Amino acid sequence: MNIVVLVKYVPDATADRQFEDDFTVDRVNVDGLLSELDEYAVEQSLQIKEKRDGEEITVTALTVGPQAAEAAVRKALQMGADKGVHVVDDAIAGSDSIATSLVLAKAIEKLGPVDLVVGGLASTDAGMSVVPAMLAERLGLPQVTLASVVETQGDQIRIKRDGDVATEVIGGTLPLVLSVTDQSGEARYPSFKGIMAAKKKPLETWSLADLGVDAGQVGLGAAYTAVEETAARPPRTAGEIVTDEDGSGAKALAEFLASKKFI
Ligand SMILES: Cc1cc2nc3c(=O)[nH]c(=O)nc-3n(C[C@H](O)[C@H](O)[C@H](O)COP(=O)(O)OP(=O)(O)OC[C@H]3O[C@@H](n4cnc5c(N)ncnc54)[C@H](O)[C@@H]3O)c2cc1C
Repeated sequence: MNIVVLVKYVPDATADRQFEDDFTVDRVNVDGLLSELDEYAVEQSLQIKEKRDGEEITVTALTVGPQAAEAAVRKALQMGADKGVHVVDDAIAGSDSIATSLVLAKAIEKLGPVDLVVGGLASTDAGMSVVPAMLAERLGLPQVTLASVVETQGDQIRIKRDGDVATEVIGGTLPLVLSVTDQSGEARYPSFKGIMAAKKKPLETWSLADLGVDAGQVGLGAAYTAVEETAARPPRTAGEIVTDEDGSGAKALAEFLASKKFI
């Protein structure tokens, strides 16, 4: 059984994140890491492998990103993935979801027949939450997305998907594309043994040429939408303090709320 887990390298949310002059995210000069939401995807991939003890299962961690994105694959290998693939090419910079899904799909096809593609609920930077669905379309596979619980048996999968008013149980037949939420189970920390073992695991680097993708199909120039402007969030202003000195506080408070149309 072949499981491909998608691992995106994103700017660290606690770092001083910047945009480039062309309004793309600076992914090079800012500390980055494996998207936290993709750690859940790695965890579920590893749990599926562990629960199907005795079967030959390979978990491959796949990223599309700049040189530094290798760190996302390394983290997945440290957690327990068997091998890694990093697609890196200058032409990919500035790609939209459509181009990103194209490159991911071509890489998955190059990896050979796949039973399960597992992604996160969204990346923690762009957060479009569309790449797994686009990937399913490109690969001609069904998709079961936003799973909070995942169970597999043979070629069958059952997931729970929590909505605002109901929880759905959805069944599917492999191969398919799965995405998991942050409710699917706490992601494991790499152990010292895992960190040491990861150093010897295979990690391949592929370019667009290796995937037969034309540079004109990806990058900012091929994006279907463009960010035209960005602005820093204005600093928070001090709130208005209503001081109740003569018993008129409640009235002043009500008037304030009414003026803001809260009541
Ligand atoms: C400042 C800024 C500017 C942008 N400008 C544009 C623009 O001009 N035009 C435009 O169309 N888009 C733009 N985007 C959107 C962005 O480039 C794409 O949405 C992004 O490349 C892929 O989608 P996502 O990260 O939203 O993935 P999501 O759909 O949120 O990701 C879901 C899951 O897919 C997988 N995944 C996604 N990307 C990768 C990857 N690279 N490698 C491995 N797995 C992955 C992960 O498992 C992830 O959890 C911009 C985003 C930002 C933050």
